[in-house]
Amino acid sequence: MLQDLDVGRMENEFRNIAAAGEDTVLCFREGQVLICREQDDTLRLPSLSQLSGRKTGAALRYLFRLQGENFFLWTGAAPESPVDGFAYEPVRQLRQLRSKEVCFGVMTGWHLHNWYRVNRFCGSCGMPTEHDTKERMLRCPNCGNTVFPRISPAVIVAVTDGDRLLLSKYAGRAYTRYALLAGYTEIGETIEQTVHREVMEEVGLRVKNLRYYNSQPWGVDGNVLMGFFCDVDGSDAIHIDETELSMADWYPRDALPAHDDGISLTREMIRVFEEGREPG
Ligand SMILES: [Zn+2]
Repeated sequence: MLQDLDVGRMENEFRNIAAAGEDTVLCFREGQVLICREQDDTLRLPSLSQLSGRKTGAALRYLFRLQGENFFLWTGAAPESPVDGFAYEPVRQLRQLRSKEVCFGVMTGWHLHNWYRVNRFCGSCGMPTEHDTKERMLRCPNCGNTVFPRISPAVIVAVTDGDRLLLSKYAGRAYTRYALLAGYTEIGETIEQTVHREVMEEVGLRVKNLRYYNSQPWGVDGNVLMGFFCDVDGSDAIHIDETELSMADWYPRDALPAHDDGISLTREMIRVFEEGREPG
């Protein structure tokens, strides 16, 4: 999956440090990130020194350390492209397996960027917030309101019926390939209740025997995804919610139309089922 790094790890604890020349800088602008696409299609992010001279009124905010490299967020007006071979590309489309560490850094930085962006002012009294010096937290100096990073829990659900797996496609979204069922956890419900509710809402099926599989941070939507396998309980007749899905159907284990992409939890779960290794 995207977050499974070949080398090193994501060190996401906050540090109150300044940027140096070789540190990586994430510059976001209208859903896009400044990035260099090499001739072999690998991706590279700019260092601070590559952006020198463009830092007009911008401040840099430490984000995290990934595989030994410090990542900073460019705040304020984004630098204009082109910057020596760099161009702005949509964050949502960065899913290259060959550069998955870069994609994971961009996606996680995007999640933090959005959190900082919508919390510049206190939601309670409207005064500008200030960053804590020891942890990733924003505080209102006027009323004392504190704001911590927001992560939305969501489930990925593989509904099985013996050697059959339920696959679906989203309605009205850019992602048009096969997917498992998915949905956000709502306030007041358990993760397991989310699974039951989402499956019933999207395809009209009852399920039982929920087995937790694995999880995945998915910063492009601000989520942490939790993957479950479960069995259909009773009727296998599918009734889709056409506002959510364009199709849903049962597919046999030995003829699944989707395969692992090395990036998403959804695709890994499809492969695990294909290989008969789903938790029993
Ligand atoms: Zn306040």
